[in-house]
Amino acid sequence: MNRIKINLDKKISRSYDLYIGKDIQDRATLLIARGNWAKRYFLITDTNVSDLYGSRVLDTFRSMGMPVEMITFPAGEASKTIHTAVAVAEELLGRGADRTSGLIALGGGVVGDLTGFIASIFMRGIPYLQFPTTLMAQVDSSIGGKTGVDLPMAKNMLGTFCQPKAVFTDVGFLKTLPVAEYMNGLAEIVKCAIIDDPGLLDLLEEQAVLLMNVGEPEPWVPIVTRACEIKKKIVEIDEKEQGLRRILNFGHTLGHAVEAEADYAIPHGEAVSMGMAGALNLSEKLGHLPVSDRERIMGFLQKAGLPVRIPGGLSTEGVISRMQRDKKKEGKVVHFVLLRRPGMPFVNGGVPESLIRETIEGLKR
Ligand code: ADP
Ligand code: ZN
Repeated sequence: MNRIKINLDKKISRSYDLYIGKDIQDRATLLIARGNWAKRYFLITDTNVSDLYGSRVLDTFRSMGMPVEMITFPAGEASKTIHTAVAVAEELLGRGADRTSGLIALGGGVVGDLTGFIASIFMRGIPYLQFPTTLMAQVDSSIGGKTGVDLPMAKNMLGTFCQPKAVFTDVGFLKTLPVAEYMNGLAEIVKCAIIDDPGLLDLLEEQAVLLMNVGEPEPWVPIVTRACEIKKKIVEIDEKEQGLRRILNFGHTLGHAVEAEADYAIPHGEAVSMGMAGALNLSEKLGHLPVSDRERIMGFLQKAGLPVRIPGGLSTEGVISRMQRDKKKEGKVVHFVLLRRPGMPFVNGGVPESLIRETIEGLKR
């Protein structure tokens, strides 16, 4: 089991451990018992994950004498709303939860974001722990302490920064993950490799075939660990997304716009992959990135089965205006994370709109 210590705000009380391994349930339960963060725990999960793992996880906790019960909500992004948060909070209250209770998120990003959000506001804040079960949640949403729910007009519009007490990342959960969900996570891992760890890019290239062997979680331990280390390093330096953390948005400026313009019919990872293709093209067009580097990374994305073309039916103008409306933009300037070399990203707020248009059109062909 690997351990990564996340140090936030230089205050001991806000640091926590992230454990990564395969089949680590027993050890996780012992650590939770020892952590003594709450007198009683509520396992929050969605219907899919509950069917697959709910009773097993509950049994493990109970076999070690931990008082825990489960609250389930319907699987899917549609559940990530303030209404579900209210329903879960009412359920918690109905079952006698109080300020000495803690929450355990068992599931993907939706479960993690929602559980963290509820924990951050229930009775002005109670502790929470995470058991991320999707590749995406393991490498991305479980680090950084962003919690939140969607509004009908836009995703993640209501939220808080709230760090968990510990995260237990068990790649054993990946055995049952649908291929499309693997792709989602893989896109974020490739992003981390591109912006900060060219060595990881080499490793991914070597193991491309192995990684597609979906039923076998073993090869993911070192890869998930490295991706988490990259995200940890960046989030520690810039917890609240003022500067450096922006580089984690590599591929996301265009990716988010494509995702929204497609009415979320394109999964996040695929949209990010298209966004990365856009950022690579822009970097090359502006003379920052050597052609060979762009070709190499584009080649890997394709080999891994990640899309690098934007669907022809999507409106270019629609995508551009979505980028200008994105909540991270300042004034009317769209900030792109561009690349000089793998491992050398930088933020550019001055990409001409005409070049953005040309790049999107290029990706549609
Ligand atoms: P993310 O935002 O992390 O991609 P979601 O929370 O939206 O993930 O989960 C995506 C889907 O995968 C949901 O339907 C969820 O119930 C399901 N899911 C989560 N973890 C697993 C798993 N380990 N095996 C199978 N399905 C899973
Ligand atoms: Zn992302």
